Amino acid sequence: MEPLSEVPFMDGLIMKETDPDASVYTKFMMNHCCYDAIPTSSKLVIFDTTLQVKKAFFALVANGVRAAPLWDNKLQCFVGMLTITDFINILHRYWQSPLIEIYELERHKIEECRGNRSLVVSAYKCIILFDAIYSLLKYKIHRLPVIDPESGNVLHILTHKRILKFLHIFGTMIPKPRYLQKRIEEVDIGTFKRIATVQETATVYDALAIFVERRVSALPVVNEEGKVKALYSRFDVINLAAQKNYNNLNMTMVEAISSRACCIEGVLKCYPHETLETVIDRIAKAEVHRLVLVDEEDVVRGIVSLSDLLQALVLTPAGIDALFS
Ligand code: ADP
Ligand code: ADP
Ligand code: AMP
Repeated sequence: MEPLSEVPFMDGLIMKETDPDASVYTKFMMNHCCYDAIPTSSKLVIFDTTLQVKKAFFALVANGVRAAPLWDNKLQCFVGMLTITDFINILHRYWQSPLIEIYELERHKIEECRGNRSLVVSAYKCIILFDAIYSLLKYKIHRLPVIDPESGNVLHILTHKRILKFLHIFGTMIPKPRYLQKRIEEVDIGTFKRIATVQETATVYDALAIFVERRVSALPVVNEEGKVKALYSRFDVINLAAQKNYNNLNMTMVEAISSRACCIEGVLKCYPHETLETVIDRIAKAEVHRLVLVDEEDVVRGIVSLSDLLQALVLTPAGIDALFS
């Protein structure tokens, strides 16, 4: 797929101008391009598709990155991304027991695991952030390579987190919309039904199965009463590669969580009575992808993810209905 090079979604876009307050963040994202939001320097790791799968995941760990664009030397182009979700998919599909080597992980090259897939969703650096957000949400991905149109090089991998951080820093210059003072239970931003959770006593394999089946980015870890005790995100699965214990998927969530190399202490939560502004501040400052919405008893009631916030603040006011359902 060619990187986004023009403004495909602006045509025919009808801004709901009844309340100008509602579209301040949409306009902000239309007035800035991807290049504005990327850092002046950052580490970028690219994998050749002939690299062994296991080495690739070890290299993500060794370089402290979460994903890498895939380069096909024969085709002389980027053919996709390697992310922790791909690691999860391989473990879930091929793991049998702690005693049996995962052949596909140990022996295969990246190209052998991917089949004919060669779709890469990317954006040229001059593309407006609005379109970058649209792509992230439409394709339900968390990594968007930003390309320099002159050299064809990947400059950065844009994420929801980076975009929200950019908005959080530079959005202070624009007047705050009044709806930020509404309570999270009023604005209906987030997911409040069918929350995917995992029991403390469940195994890591169980968690991987939920990631694959429900396609969610994180699972609140709950006790028998449904109270949240920890959070296990797709990112945490890379610890299995870091600690070389990806064959031991029988370990419990409690064990997996306590053995994480570096992680956030406790669970970052929010409550239904808190304002949207408080929630945005907390998620941006903590640099996490979501907050767990809980009631007074700490029972999980919902998830407020960066995808939900970008949908509600940027896309919905432009007339683009929820891309998540
Ligand atoms: P993670 O949250 O683990 O970083 P993503 O949600 O971004 O992963 O990825 C989900 C799936 O989509 C993975 O199989 C990944 O390889 C693929 N993917 C991610 N980003 C892109 C992209 N920009 N273009 C094409 N495929 C992508
Ligand atoms: P990514 O940057 O890949 O989107 P995440 O934000 O999902 O990564 O996760 C990064 C780290 O932060 C992980 O160790 C994860 O467990 C932790 N984390 C993410 N969200 C929360 C939360 N709401 N409460 C506690 N820890 C969290
Ligand atoms: P994310 O993958 O976190 O960017 O979120 C995509 C959509 O899935 C958002 O609408 C989230 O609210 C929702 N979501 C994220 N985690 C969960 C979960 N554990 N259970 C149910 N929905 C979730």
